[in-house]
Amino acid sequence: MLNAKKDLLGLPPHDVEAALAEHFVVRGQPSYRVEQVKKWVFEECVPDIAGMTNLPVAEREALDAAFSLVEPTADTVSRSSDGTVKHLWRLADGELVESVLIPTKNRLTLCISSQAGCAMGCTFCATGWAGFQRQLTSGEIVSQYRASQRWGFENGHGRISNIVYMGMGEPLTNRKALHPSLTILNQGYGVGARRITVSTVGVVPGILELAEREEQFRLAISLHAPESDLRSQLIPLEKRHSLEELMAALVRFDRAGGRRITFEYTMIRGINDAPRLAQALADLASTVDAFVNLIPYNPIPYQDWKASRGERIEEFRSVLEARGVSVAVRVPRGRDIDAACGQLRATRMTSGVSQTGGDPGNRRGPAKK
Ligand code: SAH
Ligand code: SF4
Repeated sequence: MLNAKKDLLGLPPHDVEAALAEHFVVRGQPSYRVEQVKKWVFEECVPDIAGMTNLPVAEREALDAAFSLVEPTADTVSRSSDGTVKHLWRLADGELVESVLIPTKNRLTLCISSQAGCAMGCTFCATGWAGFQRQLTSGEIVSQYRASQRWGFENGHGRISNIVYMGMGEPLTNRKALHPSLTILNQGYGVGARRITVSTVGVVPGILELAEREEQFRLAISLHAPESDLRSQLIPLEKRHSLEELMAALVRFDRAGGRRITFEYTMIRGINDAPRLAQALADLASTVDAFVNLIPYNPIPYQDWKASRGERIEEFRSVLEARGVSVAVRVPRGRDIDAACGQLRATRMTSGVSQTGGDPGNRRGPAKK
């Protein structure tokens, strides 16, 4: 039977308010009940309606009959020696998605998933190899934040300060859920738009849509190669939206104002780290004044590639700096817990633990060159 309950986690605050107002009016309840429930949802992050303890029991029961808070359950929690914490969440239908909490000195960053799996098939990415399972709903995206925040509070962390859509999936091919999830996290949970970053491999229509939004959500581009031929070997989407088209969209995003674009560049030894590519990368970054993150490649089970050598990464950094491009070399976090995109899930599926089943070898993945 279809669950007719409304999931309060998937609605923007004004819709939550309207739905609750209607519910309580019908029940002859005072209007402050709306604020009480909103506080439990957006501030206290309670896992269920039973936990809304300042409502009379009869009101909790009536609320529970009409609404739900659809939360994932933690399948696995892995803590890295560097403080990174990875959750593998089991969704209501058994699908598995990951989120990662990354504490640093001044921030607590949460990396969330936008899809179960990914259809983009990037050849360096564990999620790409495992294929696409399904879209997440806006509630399922938001619930990763809530459940992670609760876990954080219970384990001595403060508030999550930053959110990055850099877990599993390509957020700009799930815009139906992405846009409300951004609104909910920003307006409902109070995470500043400039502290929320959407990462994409280059879905041009989605970038243009994001540029249209009033809030200053940030954009990260998984660039990984500054030349189209090489890029299309790493990122199949390059054949649909070329680097040229992508750069034109980024110029428009840049002109929309106030938001710095980040380029992510995963450095793979002998694949995309030839010295001349640093100059080409500097050209592109200068065009849109992008900040460049150089990330040592994190080896995945499906490829025998290695990370670029430290000297080569430093060489890239100095070329970019000499050209006036802002650049950072990202220290890989949580390597000991497979905290890179899609890796814990990939490990679980290879070892046959996942109940969603499936051997990655049988799934659609990028063809090996
Ligand atoms: N689909 C979006 C967001 C999720 S991927 C995107 O691709 O941008 C998050 C980041 O992890 C991307 O920058 C991706 O390129 C990077 N990534 C994936 N596999 C990696 C690996 N094996 N080593 C290092 N970075 C990787
Ligand atoms: Fe999907 Fe991003 Fe991985 Fe590419 S890098 S397969 S777009 S998750």
